Amino acid sequence: MDLTLSEPYRILQAEIRDFIRQHGDKSPKVGGGRKRPDQKTLDWQKRLVENGYAGRTIPKEYGGFGATPDVMAAAVIAGEFARANVYAGLTNQGISMLVPTLLELGTDEQKRQYVGPTIRGDIIWCQGYSEPNNGSDLANAQTKAELKDGHWIVNGQKIWTSSAHYADMMFLLCRTEPDKSKHDGLSYLLLSMKSPGLDPRPLKTMTGRNEFNEVFFTDVKVPESQIVLGRGKGWYVANVTLKHERLMIGDAGKMTARFEQLISLLQTSEIDGTKLIAMPEYRDRLLRLQGEVMAWKAHNLRLLTEAAQGVDSGVKRMIIKYGGTMLGFRLSSLAVDALGAAGLPYESLGEDAEDDDATTWNIDYMYDVGLMIGGGSTNIQKNIIGERGLDLPREPKAAGRA
Ligand SMILES: Cc1cc2nc3c(=O)[nH]c(=O)nc-3n(C[C@H](O)[C@H](O)[C@H](O)COP(=O)(O)OP(=O)(O)OC[C@H]3O[C@@H](n4cnc5c(N)ncnc54)[C@H](O)[C@@H]3O)c2cc1C
Repeated sequence: MDLTLSEPYRILQAEIRDFIRQHGDKSPKVGGGRKRPDQKTLDWQKRLVENGYAGRTIPKEYGGFGATPDVMAAAVIAGEFARANVYAGLTNQGISMLVPTLLELGTDEQKRQYVGPTIRGDIIWCQGYSEPNNGSDLANAQTKAELKDGHWIVNGQKIWTSSAHYADMMFLLCRTEPDKSKHDGLSYLLLSMKSPGLDPRPLKTMTGRNEFNEVFFTDVKVPESQIVLGRGKGWYVANVTLKHERLMIGDAGKMTARFEQLISLLQTSEIDGTKLIAMPEYRDRLLRLQGEVMAWKAHNLRLLTEAAQGVDSGVKRMIIKYGGTMLGFRLSSLAVDALGAAGLPYESLGEDAEDDDATTWNIDYMYDVGLMIGGGSTNIQKNIIGERGLDLPREPKAAGRA
């Protein structure tokens, strides 16, 4: 197999290297992304969008770079940024989940209003899906919205809403058709987090930091036009968003960058004067992980190819969230083991802790446990893979549940 890049991609590669040489010093630190982006990150993001290294295939009229989808170009860009250890751009619920959903299903007005500012990082979104009694059983969401005088009036409660304490906007799954079946009774609304009657209350995680929230709605008014696709179409829209969420969570680009960081951690850490990279017990785990990361990367390239060809990847896509979160957890587990005592003390981690190298792994490790649950838990992913991917018999439903 000839893996040399053909002429157009060699030119692209040279352009990217030139860009990184000229501007790489302005890049924020790789990693993080669980706080509101600071000015340095926003400036860098805008530079990436202008040069086609973020929002590359989003049409120009909606604020993107307008390039034709090209799997190889995407792989070359990701590879060059990872190789140079330069920040490859924001990934958050707005950019990775809402933007593709709006591009697929939104009105022209919604795309013009939200896509550009979101990919530049000027609008931060949060996802209002889970409720205290309806997490895995998402279609049973009970937060309701009633249409009165040109506005949806929203009442109810969401929970585990990541970033709601600093987000500007929320995409919300709510019940607008109480007389219809549970799946047909939902709608998908876009609303401002500044709306009167909306009350986000931060929840502390075991890292000691506020990462998600409970959000209460009391007669929150949302303009009628802020619905995506139409009344009763919320379940369909939410599933389009979830598909993108699961791909974002299992993203191979991030795995490759983390693997590179893991190598340098093992190259720089030592026990009794011996570098960890030279010790069989660490080296063996590292090499196994290298094989998994390479396989994951190849799998993601296959998915990108199929997406570009308009082929539905079926079960190959369904395994991304499950496989990606398990692999991410194994990567951070090795790092935390390598850190030894420095991998343990997490009680004292403050809001700025992810700026510190040693604690970044520590935070990732705990966050990776959460990622196995967020966006649909591992058990639910296994059900989906089994039932929809492998045509196994459906799990029996508990009595009284639709
Ligand atoms: C880090 C993180 C970020 C999150 N961010 C958001 C967010 O931004 N917005 C949002 O809306 N939600 C968010 N969530 C919530 C997340 O989507 C839910 O936690 C998840 O869907 C599980 O729902 P639950 O917590 O209600 O657990 P439950 O549904 O009560 O499940 C409890 C346990 O039972 C298992 N279980 C449930 N049903 C079945 C079944 N049918 N078969 C087999 N096992 C089953 C589950 O796997 C789980 O282990 C986040 C969660 C985490 C951890």
